[in-house]
Amino acid sequence: GSCPAQTFHARDLTITRSMALKPFTDPRTMTGSTTDHMLKVTWSNSTGWGVPEIVPYAPLALDPTATVLHYANECFEGMKAYRNKRTGKIQVFRPDLNAKRLNMSADRIALPSFDNDEFVALLCAFVAVEERWLAWSGNSTILEYDENDFLYLRPMMIGTTPRLGLAKPNDAMFLIIATKFSSWHTRPLRLLASSPEESVRAWPGGFGFAKVGANYGPTLQYQTRAVSLGYDQVLWLFDVEKRYVTEAGGANFFVVWRTEDGGVELVTAPLETGTVLDGVTRRSVIELVRERLPEVSVTERQFTVGEIVAAVDSRRIIEAFACGTAYFIAPVAEIGISGRDVTIPLKVEGKSGEYARTIRRWLEEIMYGEIDHAWGVAV
Ligand code: PLP
Repeated sequence: GSCPAQTFHARDLTITRSMALKPFTDPRTMTGSTTDHMLKVTWSNSTGWGVPEIVPYAPLALDPTATVLHYANECFEGMKAYRNKRTGKIQVFRPDLNAKRLNMSADRIALPSFDNDEFVALLCAFVAVEERWLAWSGNSTILEYDENDFLYLRPMMIGTTPRLGLAKPNDAMFLIIATKFSSWHTRPLRLLASSPEESVRAWPGGFGFAKVGANYGPTLQYQTRAVSLGYDQVLWLFDVEKRYVTEAGGANFFVVWRTEDGGVELVTAPLETGTVLDGVTRRSVIELVRERLPEVSVTERQFTVGEIVAAVDSRRIIEAFACGTAYFIAPVAEIGISGRDVTIPLKVEGKSGEYARTIRRWLEEIMYGEIDHAWGVAV
């Protein structure tokens, strides 16, 4: 026979449009709604990738022995599509990075790889089919459209081989779905620093660097406790002795402080330990600050909660923020550390969260196409 197909191809895509599009009601009640279609491609070990199809959104039929239901071979991505405020065209933000990351995650859990450019082409074709969910205002078939609305895109891959034996799956499915959101402004976050004696999210040699479902379910027990204590998210630490800071829930975490020698440092956990997700927003923050704020030294290094407490106590702290596709750039107001609530001042020289606000604005300009930038990719 012929060789298994090493990737899916956007040129093979078939589209079956839904005969019953979802009726729009108040756009706020549509928040979180899945759109009308989904994109699906199957893979098998013997034939490789099949033909991608966009079909009406519907439940999946999975054999109860499908490997994903037992051994968590699932990985996913999270990204957004926006209407360009100047051209009216829909665009996505740095989709090449999500393609690479999904391939990396798939590899970690023995799921098949695909070509990054074909991923981006399929994603764009899918978003184009769902364009009415980001319709222009003035279109009478749609009640209302806020120019800050976006689609949240969820590409994912699962192992589907019906077999309880523990082995690399021989069958997989790649899917893209989308949900509709209106942009919201998050209030400053309160984080609870985890107690690494009780719970860690990720550890060296593990899989914290991969966006696999297995990283998320086990965080919910501790996260639920944090919420019941009045916090928004867990600031995950690892290492019982050193108490290194890694991430804040489903977001990367940055601190800005004045160093002992009077300079300004923007610090975040490094990727090398394998305990932190290589966030697209994280990477973008680092690149923009290095390019546009040369007076700030951007450092990717291990740092501890003890350093945060010391910076607060000696008034060297400037601000802290969480960043990711879901949270965007969210200032952090308080961190619960070993029974003490450490307050991060949100007012610096009369201005609130100046770095977070500036960076947020820069990213918005690119995402919503207010300026031309290579990171905004038209679908
Ligand atoms: N860290 C974790 C654990 C995440 O789940 C996410 C999710 O998106 C991020 C960080 C931020 O990554 P990105 O900026 O690519 O959304």
